[in-house]
Amino acid sequence: MKKFLGLIILLLIMNFAGINAYAGFSVEKDTIKTEAVDDFEAVDDFEEVDDFEEAGNEFEEVSEEEELPQNINEVKEETGTPDYVYDITLEWSLYALAFAVVAGFLVRFRQTRSLRGLILLASLFLFGFYRGGCPCMLSSFQDTLLIVMGNDVAWQNLVWFLGLIPITYIFGKVWCGWVCHLGAVQEFLFLPSKYHIFKGELAVKIMKIIRYGLLAALIVQLGVMGSIYFCSIDPFKAIFNMHIEEEYLTITGILMGLILLTSLFSYRPFCKSACPVGLTLGLVSKIPGASVVGLKGECAGCKVCNNACKYDAIIRKDKHSVLNNNDCIACGDCMDACHRSGLGFFRKNKKHKDIVYCKNECTID
Ligand code: SF4
Ligand code: SF4
Repeated sequence: MKKFLGLIILLLIMNFAGINAYAGFSVEKDTIKTEAVDDFEAVDDFEEVDDFEEAGNEFEEVSEEEELPQNINEVKEETGTPDYVYDITLEWSLYALAFAVVAGFLVRFRQTRSLRGLILLASLFLFGFYRGGCPCMLSSFQDTLLIVMGNDVAWQNLVWFLGLIPITYIFGKVWCGWVCHLGAVQEFLFLPSKYHIFKGELAVKIMKIIRYGLLAALIVQLGVMGSIYFCSIDPFKAIFNMHIEEEYLTITGILMGLILLTSLFSYRPFCKSACPVGLTLGLVSKIPGASVVGLKGECAGCKVCNNACKYDAIIRKDKHSVLNNNDCIACGDCMDACHRSGLGFFRKNKKHKDIVYCKNECTID
């Protein structure tokens, strides 16, 4: 409970900083809006000139030659997204990737693995409350799908998600375990494991089915609309900015409530049942040579790693532990828990598969 209260206080402090960032982001949006409005007002000025033309003044030619926009939307379309918005997206994408690379090194050593909480907190503050959760890897993922579907997307928008693929190949899914600000919100909200519900093999299966279903729905939505809808209803953006767009109040409010509430009793419920980025990055562990967590020697069959893995990447099957690297978020908890230091990072090959079957029967029930 102390942890929970601490988090609430932290959220309030960060929200103060977050409001400033949101205000900053609003300034960017307002600048675009103001430019568009100015253009539109300029059009009005010309229309006034037209009135004078009727009186036979010399501005007649201007009115005849130029096809002036009819409404503010046309002006907005012509104005487009200013280059500096892409520059900001690129800049923050590179910061995020740099964080993930640093995490990739830190997780390799027992002495530095304890820094995970600090990195998650820094990420939560920077990419979450300071940036207001925008841009993020989810929009980058959707932009990548849009470009595959033949839409026009700025290359800067793809860098975050595409950059995570080689990083995951080299270091494992450290983005999820160590950096992701969305994962961090859920992780800090999670109450001690005695309240942990909805875990185990069946829960993992159900959440995986939901996740694939939501990915299919997302692909259909992007294909039909040709644009990102999720950003309008993004519950994480609402959490980081403490602000919900009035137009999407109900749906965003429900999603936000669901995430906040379920995160208390289930470890990273959004990651396990909805996030398409975690799902896609998980597939990287199947590529030969990818970073996987594996067994160094003989397993003692003590089940300690099983209990340490809150993400349920290690589940029990017939008194044996099975580690699925597809799900593993490279947090390193199982490695720290193992008394024999029996778990570590390897390159996926014939000996070190992406799914690890513990040979020894677990001795403690
Ligand atoms: S699964 Fe998605 S939300 Fe969860 S940590 Fe990974 S990228 Fe972030
Ligand atoms: S198997 Fe579980 S505890 Fe071990 S590194 Fe992966 S997610 Fe963490």
